[in-house]
Amino acid sequence: MLDFSTTQLQQETSSNTDVEQGNRVYDLIIVGGAPAGLTAAIYAGRAALDTLLLTGPSLGGQVATTNLVENFPGFPEGINGAELAQRIQRQAKRFGAHIVTETVNGVDLSASPFTVETRAQTYRGRTVIIATGAFPRRLGVPGEAEFFGRGVSTCATCDGFFYKDKRVVVVGGGDSAIDEGLFLTKFAREVIVVHRRDQLRATKVYQERAFANPKMRFVWDSVVEEVLGEQTVTGVRVRNVKTGETSVIEADGMFVYIGLIPGTKRFVGQVEMDEQGYIITDQHQRTNVPGVFAAGDVQSPDFRQIVVAAGSGAVAAIQADRFLTEKSAST
Ligand code: NAP
Repeated sequence: MLDFSTTQLQQETSSNTDVEQGNRVYDLIIVGGAPAGLTAAIYAGRAALDTLLLTGPSLGGQVATTNLVENFPGFPEGINGAELAQRIQRQAKRFGAHIVTETVNGVDLSASPFTVETRAQTYRGRTVIIATGAFPRRLGVPGEAEFFGRGVSTCATCDGFFYKDKRVVVVGGGDSAIDEGLFLTKFAREVIVVHRRDQLRATKVYQERAFANPKMRFVWDSVVEEVLGEQTVTGVRVRNVKTGETSVIEADGMFVYIGLIPGTKRFVGQVEMDEQGYIITDQHQRTNVPGVFAAGDVQSPDFRQIVVAAGSGAVAAIQADRFLTEKSAST
């Protein structure tokens, strides 16, 4: 199988020297290089908007860490997540989007043209689409941070290979925990899912596969209280939330899949957000700031599907184009 690593993906993006600056004002700046942002770039390019996309640290976001995407239309056998991101990027470039591997440090959305700052440059755009996605939530228990990268992980696709014939704990009961737990059974001799309730949240198809897999075991009604180890992880201490009893599960690694937090830190005070930090948009992906749109997981905690993120990216770009057309007609 081809290895579409993040590094390879980054090499396919332009360096910032490809993008001339000076007084240039882009029609559209897209912040975030996952399916929502990349799809927005395809639509913006096809609408002949002068478009800059700042990918952030890596292309593809969460999708790039997904081994097999089975539910994106057009790929009946499934597709590797990183490969999917790379394909969408190629499509966006074909229509003229400038794609740059830079991370946004700050924005000023108080007046148009808006400014978007990275460590290297300050960019200006007449419209902005925020598509910075969401990131894995951490448990926040002792040992988790200490052993992160030495037995604690949030990416089975990246780290699963290191657990050949080992025993791993997966925390969570949603689609991510079960999907990635199933992926880990390719390597590990046992995958122990620790879930805080006695029922999974994951969709039925994942549940059926998990219950049928002889390598998967479930520890119900339990939460991880501590990650144990010396040089690397040796186990986790869990507490049964119904009985209060604590016990130790011996394991070589722990994978945490307990949901996501939106990547909106850089936009606080600039656009309206809900109490969880998701950007509030209307059904046309408009934020409360005219000319600023948001798409993908950064504005929608409900679905978190690649196809939904891509769809909202398309809507945001179409709306950005309409906004610019209406603005130029009125001046
Ligand atoms: P999720 O659906 O929010 O599930 C998070 C899981 O973690 C839940 O089971 C939750 O328990 C548990 N949890 C939350 N906080 C916890 C804590 N502090 N301690 C212990 N457990 C905790 O998140 P997700 O699984 O990452 O999925 C996110 C979205 O992506 C979903 O919409 C999902 O459908 C989608 N997704 C889809 C696919 C796919 O279709 N192939 C694959 C992956 C993800 P409770 O159940 O008790 O709340």
